[in-house]
Amino acid sequence: MYLRHQTRPVQVGNVTIGGNNEVIIQSMCTTKTADVEATVAEILRLEEAGCQVVRVTVNNEEAADAIKEIKKRINIPLVADIHFDYRLALKAIENGIDKVRINPGNIGRREKVEAVVKACKERGIPIRIGVNAGSLENHLLEKYGYPTPEAMVESALFHIGILEELDFHDIIVSLKASDVPMAIAAYSKASEVIKYPLHLGITEAGTLFSGTCKSAAGIGALLSLGLGSTVRISLSADPVEEVKVAREILKSFGLISNAATLVSCPTCGRLDIDLFSIANEVEEYIANVKVPIKVSVLGCAVNGPGEAREADIGIAGARGEGLLFRYGQMIRKVPEADMVEELKKEIDIIVAEYERT
Ligand code: SF4
Repeated sequence: MYLRHQTRPVQVGNVTIGGNNEVIIQSMCTTKTADVEATVAEILRLEEAGCQVVRVTVNNEEAADAIKEIKKRINIPLVADIHFDYRLALKAIENGIDKVRINPGNIGRREKVEAVVKACKERGIPIRIGVNAGSLENHLLEKYGYPTPEAMVESALFHIGILEELDFHDIIVSLKASDVPMAIAAYSKASEVIKYPLHLGITEAGTLFSGTCKSAAGIGALLSLGLGSTVRISLSADPVEEVKVAREILKSFGLISNAATLVSCPTCGRLDIDLFSIANEVEEYIANVKVPIKVSVLGCAVNGPGEAREADIGIAGARGEGLLFRYGQMIRKVPEADMVEELKKEIDIIVAEYERT
């Protein structure tokens, strides 16, 4: 377990972010928000994949209007992403949004900021301040010359200061950069001076493959420091993939309680079974398992039994057959053709036991 950085807990709909709570997985819709059918369909797919909070862009009145209907048909908190236009923020709030992502310093005149903060306060809606290395304020770019972690933290403190002056404290902060070392430095520095939950992200990380690697590097480094109350992976891909990647990263740190983990070997010349297809099939199967069990699929009897013993359930290949282990005990041998089905049966038994306790 990692010692988690302590922050103020912030309520977002029925989800609490920060405090002693688990790291929450977020994603963002790729649909036009005004297209209610498409947006709801995408959110329901995201929910099924394990997304716990979802953001939509609110870039026009039609999008703000759609929030009311979208909210009725989804089960996770909905966040409005708003840039500059305070009237859209007010409309989104009126229509039942659960959180607003807006930078108060960019809203404009004081009374506009006050109107948004007042509306959020009345309904218990938090605000996420989203600092992005690519869109820092001009005065900070002039001061620092180019985006730096210090400039990003200063930007966050500037926006936080505006909200605190208005006695508003339901704040979440992100300091995203596509440059991994810069994002790591910005979040690390921010954690020393900011008591609000940090929403982690490596922005515009790239395609499914490269973006996954980049996100794992950046977000993994931050999680290992105990930072982060929520996480969003940004990929040029179906957002369901973002949720899957986030779950895998959190699993690597033991920070998710409703997901099963697969251990499988890279194979070598000792391999006696068709391990790649077996591992892929098992991985697909356990994607729907919502309890924290460990399943291992190993290619041979050299490391296999040892690893399988560490798992809740595991199989180690032997010539044309597999040795099935449960909680460290070999329970039976099964023919290679039946390995996956037998493993699935045992997984179901363990899950049922887990759910009963
Ligand atoms: Fe090779 Fe066996 Fe190790 Fe797999 S478990 S990598 S097959 S030695």
